[in-house]
Amino acid sequence: MSGSPAGLPAAAVADRVEIRDVGPRDGLQAEAPVAVADRIRLIEALQDAGVAHIEAAAFVSPRVVPAMADAGAVLAGVHRRPGVTYAALVPNERGAELALASGVDELTVTISVSETYNRRNVKMGTAESEAVIGSVCALAGSVPVDAVVSCAFGSPYEGDIAPAEVAALAERLLGSGCARITCADTTGMATPRRIAELVDVTSADIGLHLHDTRGTALVNAYAGLERGVRRFDTAVGGLGGSPFAAGAAGNLATEDLVALLDDLGVHTGIDVDALVGVAAMVAEVVGHPVPGRVATAGPRTRLAAPDG
Ligand code: ZN
Repeated sequence: MSGSPAGLPAAAVADRVEIRDVGPRDGLQAEAPVAVADRIRLIEALQDAGVAHIEAAAFVSPRVVPAMADAGAVLAGVHRRPGVTYAALVPNERGAELALASGVDELTVTISVSETYNRRNVKMGTAESEAVIGSVCALAGSVPVDAVVSCAFGSPYEGDIAPAEVAALAERLLGSGCARITCADTTGMATPRRIAELVDVTSADIGLHLHDTRGTALVNAYAGLERGVRRFDTAVGGLGGSPFAAGAAGNLATEDLVALLDDLGVHTGIDVDALVGVAAMVAEVVGHPVPGRVATAGPRTRLAAPDG
């Protein structure tokens, strides 16, 4: 690409940003269960829109998360597109075995820096989760494991989490075989200042998984971009929320981030108009409007004449 997108310092210019849409997993897991056929339709609509990285399912107990039942059937039913990375969340070795048997390209695992949140979410302490993740990495072989560190910017139980604590956990996870680290603002406690403080100690080679609980998801993504972060988790329509974090709102909407990146001249390979169509489909599937702003208002256009 040529020149600097307006508004960003030259050093922060990205040629390309990688977006992983977590809607079919993180988004739908917060909803009443949706038919397997609709989950497949959503994944295929995302890949049709140009999304090249999709968290498609979670191999978790259907008793604990009914909305994620039949993960194998979802992955088996998708007409996979070459070049698209299909990821699945796994909580343990058993989940990893099932996910690997279904031919996923990436495993995602979650661990919280917040001891209390970790116990509520996965019924284990953080140290125990680290050991499980080590075993998952050993099973995964050449399939990369992305460790999503939840509550990286604060916990509803322990308050602010020190960036050094997140960075230390990230280092240990990379040491036990994880290929990548994603820092998640599970509870919407991140701010641009907190993003900058974290990236200063972790390096920019992390993914950011942002929630819009307090209206800061997009500005936090921008703060990450300015610091050189190039990987983001988003969910079409802004779906999401955590059953284990009171008041947690949806993920950063994929179409909101893509619209911003389009305007900055940063390439994602994703067609924002197609995404808006996917968001409308998602609203129909879950039976309620989605919170994404661009999905609601439509993409802006530089050419439209103002009419009032
Ligand atoms: Zn999320």
